[in-house]
Amino acid sequence: MQILLVEDDYPLAKALQQALQEQQHTVNAVGTGEAALHIIDTEKPDIVILDLGLPDTDGIDVLKKTRKKHSDLPILLLTARAELDDRITGLDSGADDYLAKPFEMAELFARLRVLERRLGTAHSSEIVIHNVCLDCNNNSVKLNGTELELSRKEYMLLKSLMENAGRIQTRSTLERRLYSWDEEVASNALEVHVHHLRKKLGSNFIKTVRGVGYKIESH
Ligand code: CA
Repeated sequence: MQILLVEDDYPLAKALQQALQEQQHTVNAVGTGEAALHIIDTEKPDIVILDLGLPDTDGIDVLKKTRKKHSDLPILLLTARAELDDRITGLDSGADDYLAKPFEMAELFARLRVLERRLGTAHSSEIVIHNVCLDCNNNSVKLNGTELELSRKEYMLLKSLMENAGRIQTRSTLERRLYSWDEEVASNALEVHVHHLRKKLGSNFIKTVRGVGYKIESH
């Protein structure tokens, strides 16, 4: 998933970003409410992890403004505030869930899995197309029942294409899903990943739409 992390505590943000990337997510991080609102409008993340204590605005305001425009965007609050009232205010203001700091990474992952399942893209944990089965729960891919060894980027690329089977995914859409802003992206990086995937999945599974991007046929 493409996750926007809004957290002004830099060491914590860095640690969360790394842990989430290891869980096959693409994570962009910002440290202010203003930056968060801008990114939510322009980049359309799949999920927002929002710290309530931000330097410029209250996280609750960010939450309310976001909810007005994006009613379906899953938002998970992080709060250092122990008071029950704040949590209730958060949920009343449209948050899907909250985690009180400090929390275990495993707890965060579990909450995210719940939110991911609620997303339209994840009706089921498995996506099966032709002879390829992608299991979002354990990040595995099987071809004719045999598990394949995929790199993190290959898995994310394949997942993005399979979730959107039947629809063309443009190069820029795919690149946004695969890379955070701070990652250097070689101009042919996408082609290289597709090339490796075709070696593993057969050359016909991922179709090239010349000049536009790629797609996988839904049936
Ligand atoms: Ca904070």
